[in-house]
Amino acid sequence: MADTGFANAAGETIVRAMIVAIQENAKDLSAIDGAIGDGDHGINMAKGFTLCAERLAASPGSFTDALGTLGQVLVTEIGGAMGPLYGTLFEEMAAAGRGEQTITAETVGRMLSGARAAVMDLGGAQVGDKTMVDVLSPATDAYAGRLAAGAGFAACLAAMAAAAEQGRESTRVLVAKLGRASRLGERSRGVLDAGASSCALLLVTMARAMTGMLTGDRPPSPR
Ligand code: ADP
Ligand code: MG
Repeated sequence: MADTGFANAAGETIVRAMIVAIQENAKDLSAIDGAIGDGDHGINMAKGFTLCAERLAASPGSFTDALGTLGQVLVTEIGGAMGPLYGTLFEEMAAAGRGEQTITAETVGRMLSGARAAVMDLGGAQVGDKTMVDVLSPATDAYAGRLAAGAGFAACLAAMAAAAEQGRESTRVLVAKLGRASRLGERSRGVLDAGASSCALLLVTMARAMTGMLTGDRPPSPR
């Protein structure tokens, strides 16, 4: 069977890859935030993700366990706009897959749409407001669109990652409508949004790590 999925029990490595990506890009993310915000986005994110790494080292678990830990740490320990928003995102992802032995393309579709709904509900951001929603929403749509068209897990993930990167780039020309950067009005135009940048990094990293774990995802060997 092609594109079956991966074992939830083995998926903690995906969350670990996301933690490393945030740690390695913390400086860049803060620099992006520095242009129209207060320059703390990468520091905030790295603080939360590093705390999560410590929790995982002490009590390892499945993919959904690790997502739940990440969500809980961000909600409870990280301030600013992003602690509650990212915390909710990962808690919703965990909730959508909890109890499943195999994480399938359908599971990830539910994780993404649950996360998007919760983040938009909590923060009130719409697409075009120059926030992480400009990445999360088109990435969720791209994934769902490929899934509905009958594409395999890896193809859904590739479409999701491409849409996430496009979404990040889309924020460059936008004027911030929410959060700290909105105080700048027109002057917020012309640079990337920090939350959109971190969200794209996380989704692209997740897609890559998941794709590497798929079983049965091999094209038929040529004869
Ligand atoms: P703070 O603005 O408190 O310094 P961060 O610098 O960590 O927090 O995060 C800034 C990012 O938060 C922005 O780049 C934007 O993407 C995101 N953001 C702000 N407000 C919202 C909101 N209401 N909904 C979704 N994302 C938001
Ligand atoms: Mg900031």
